Amino acid sequence: MLARVVGSGIAGIASSIRLAAKGYDVHVHEANSYLGGKLTAFAQEGFRFDAGPSLFTMPFLVDELFELAEKNPLDYFEYQRLDKTCHYFWEDGLVIHGHAKPTDFAQEVESKLGVNQQVILDFLEHSALLYNKTAPVFLERSLHVWKNYFTAEVWEAFKHVHQLNLTSTMNQVHQSKLKEPHLVQLFNRFATYNGSNPYKAPGVLSIIPHLEHNQGAYFPKGGMHSITQSLVKLAQDLGVTFHLNQRVQQIEVENDRATGIVVDDKLLPADLVFSNMDVVPTYCKLMPNQQAPERTLKQERSSSALIFYWGMEGLYPELDVHNILFSDRYQEEFKSLFEDFELFEDPTVYIHISSKVEKQDAPEGCENWFVMINVPGKGEMDWETLILIAKSRIISKIERILQKEIASKIQNESVLHPGLIEQRTSSYQGALYGSSSNNAFSAFWRHPNFSQKIRGLYFCGGSVHPGGGIPLCLLSAKIATGLVSAHS
Ligand SMILES: Cc1cc2nc3c(=O)[nH]c(=O)nc-3n(C[C@H](O)[C@H](O)[C@H](O)COP(=O)(O)OP(=O)(O)OC[C@H]3O[C@@H](n4cnc5c(N)ncnc54)[C@H](O)[C@@H]3O)c2cc1C
Repeated sequence: MLARVVGSGIAGIASSIRLAAKGYDVHVHEANSYLGGKLTAFAQEGFRFDAGPSLFTMPFLVDELFELAEKNPLDYFEYQRLDKTCHYFWEDGLVIHGHAKPTDFAQEVESKLGVNQQVILDFLEHSALLYNKTAPVFLERSLHVWKNYFTAEVWEAFKHVHQLNLTSTMNQVHQSKLKEPHLVQLFNRFATYNGSNPYKAPGVLSIIPHLEHNQGAYFPKGGMHSITQSLVKLAQDLGVTFHLNQRVQQIEVENDRATGIVVDDKLLPADLVFSNMDVVPTYCKLMPNQQAPERTLKQERSSSALIFYWGMEGLYPELDVHNILFSDRYQEEFKSLFEDFELFEDPTVYIHISSKVEKQDAPEGCENWFVMINVPGKGEMDWETLILIAKSRIISKIERILQKEIASKIQNESVLHPGLIEQRTSSYQGALYGSSSNNAFSAFWRHPNFSQKIRGLYFCGGSVHPGGGIPLCLLSAKIATGLVSAHS
């Protein structure tokens, strides 16, 4: 049996591994000259940069792919747990170190903010409870298969529905449980893990801090790109064939069944087709004659990002692997992202420095700074002008907060903006995480992992259920391939 996968993002690669393990002859067709989609890397004048994701959680979802293939994960892929998840900075001079151990983090919060340690520990326990009740129902299986609703896990989640905070926003939950404004802002920022707005997203998203604070933040040996590299190696060891520079033009459908794909105007037959392309262009470009699920495709998109990759002269001990420099006007920042579709004048700045753990990522005495702000992907944007404006705002914010001059320390630079993200990965509107979760029903409106009309057609990746980010993309591959015999 022959399976063809459109796109080699993390979910496309994971799907190829799972299909090969089921005995399929798998071919992955990738438009770019490299594999991995957003999860890629590049070199710049002696510095190495991961281009996209920087935060790695739930590493067991990668390990289980090696285990599925009866291989030892350590033969392919290694990672370490970070001692600190993040350094947080505010304009009023407050700095909080996000220690990995919950008790150390709670002590840090008590010493810096005077909030009793138990408040944090209770909050993280609540986050764990929410996660354990909701993940098996909302993240680990299809929401579009009726029999999945008649299970013990659904009944268990239903019993706890009053604790799931479905009718409050994340911000309301954090205000009522944490109260102290810096702390509320710190936990609100977890909405950006899937490109959402904490002032709109449902309170159930307070499960996200559980991933980082209880389960841990990790960093792969060799950088984030080694996730792609090691999984590609595994896929090849299982017999998967990768085809680079092959943009799929069409998914061929005959009698309501996917029968192949068209590449370079040639029809390549298949028994199964997996689309790892964003679901919006999958319908609009690859299947323009098929009826599209309009409501699903019109969902609000997640935020996008503007990233500066700076090779920096000097070492900055006040910064860690992950750093956030908060805006003083957080709610207004999200309004500008999701309602006004404008760059915000005082953006929250995220700085990731992999050379803190991977010394070879920067020359001696230097650091590789990945400096990111959230931006809207939608609307007409003049990126050439906006990049200059954003750069000057970002530099003044960093200089204000770190109390040191940095502009002259930037030795080299490259930039990624929403237009380029869309061009390089086909992500509609440059969204980092598919559709946003700014509404209690978002989970149900994401596209299913299979086509309800076309047999043999499956969907994986950040734009479909259960959503974006590496862990959820890996779960999308698991759910989609798990549905194969039932829906083909
Ligand atoms: C700047 C940035 C920062 C991020 N930070 C994090 C983070 O810290 N942690 C985290 O977990 N996630 C993060 N994410 C999100 C994460 O990168 C994505 O959710 C995930 O990588 C998406 O994977 P995917 O499988 O959906 O495919 P994608 O990475 O979107 O790749 C899709 C692939 O399909 C190919 N393709 C599309 N159309 C065709 C076609 N017609 N024919 C052939 N090939 C095609 C594309 O070329 C591309 O290679 C970030 C993303 C970005 C951009």
